[in-house]
Amino acid sequence: MQALNFPPADWQMSLKNLVSDPAELLALLNLPAEHLPAAERAAKLFGLRVPREFVELMHPGDINDPLLKQVLPIDAEFIDKPGYVADPLAESQARPVPGVVHKYQDRVLLILSGACAINCRYCFRRHFPYEENRISGAAKDRALDYIRERTELREVILSGGDPLVSSDKRLEELIGELSAINHIERLRIHSRLPVVIPRRLTEHLERILSSSGLQTALVLHINHPQEISDELTDACQRLRRAGITLLNQAVILRGINDEVEIQVELNRALYRSSILPYYLFLFDPVKGASHFDLSEPQAQALAAQMQAQLPGYLMPRLAKEIPGRPSKTLIQVTPAD
Ligand SMILES: *Cc1c(COP(=O)(O)O)cnc(C)c1O
Ligand code: SF4
Repeated sequence: MQALNFPPADWQMSLKNLVSDPAELLALLNLPAEHLPAAERAAKLFGLRVPREFVELMHPGDINDPLLKQVLPIDAEFIDKPGYVADPLAESQARPVPGVVHKYQDRVLLILSGACAINCRYCFRRHFPYEENRISGAAKDRALDYIRERTELREVILSGGDPLVSSDKRLEELIGELSAINHIERLRIHSRLPVVIPRRLTEHLERILSSSGLQTALVLHINHPQEISDELTDACQRLRRAGITLLNQAVILRGINDEVEIQVELNRALYRSSILPYYLFLFDPVKGASHFDLSEPQAQALAAQMQAQLPGYLMPRLAKEIPGRPSKTLIQVTPAD
């Protein structure tokens, strides 16, 4: 709890002071320098970026640590496999105005910030820093006009990059403007930042979210139970009490969370932290990340085993995104006999 009372500048310090040098990451975790040349090579494809709070959740000496594997650049990223592309979601085609992604009927996504607190090796963002697409200044006014003109919209999703990289002040302004639009009822924030820097969930942010007058959900991105720190749990329980809905989306990643025991524990641990499972996504075929992929039948088999062990409300929806469809595509999970 105490960590959450630091002034906002503290999480911003964590962002400035994160680990970006592969040699430092290996040294912090007592890992041998033999991993360094590959890490340095692959970091040129997509930089290493990981907050110290997240490094502290890793097990020293374990090169196969499931959190480390999500951030450590490795040689497999140079494998160029057919079908693994730079823009698997064809997002660049769904931008009516800069910073706005409008694919689904009653909700629209705003790209608030190009940056993330962490660079996840499996992310399609590795090929799009998104810097030129984020909304600020005139682009923000155009995005707000776009939302005001479309009365069929009910929900605005703040996304990125990571929207919580933005300061509380900037978020407060934007949320104020959104809540003044009559047809907007719901606000959703998609962020991984509280997972990797839990004190990002400041009391000020809690007040902004609980007092906006909008139905508000925070969708976190947690792939493995080891990512859930006590600080994150405390902050989420506090937000839940303040009336915020907490959801999680995870990605199935080979060698990280593709075992049933891990998935079952993840979804139980989420609920202990007042977070409900939302989506379990199949991996997007991102260039340079094919080593994380699990086939659809393998994912279905994993989900069927999870379903046999979890109550229905702790079972995430197995889904993938197929460009051009009017919603995410749910994947059938058939109970084994
Ligand atoms: C995934 C996504 C959403 C949200 O979809 P839900 O099924 O409502 O979670 C909204 N807009 C875009 C562009 C998306 O990619
Ligand atoms: S968008 Fe999400 S998954 Fe991608 S790098 Fe940022 S935090 Fe990681």
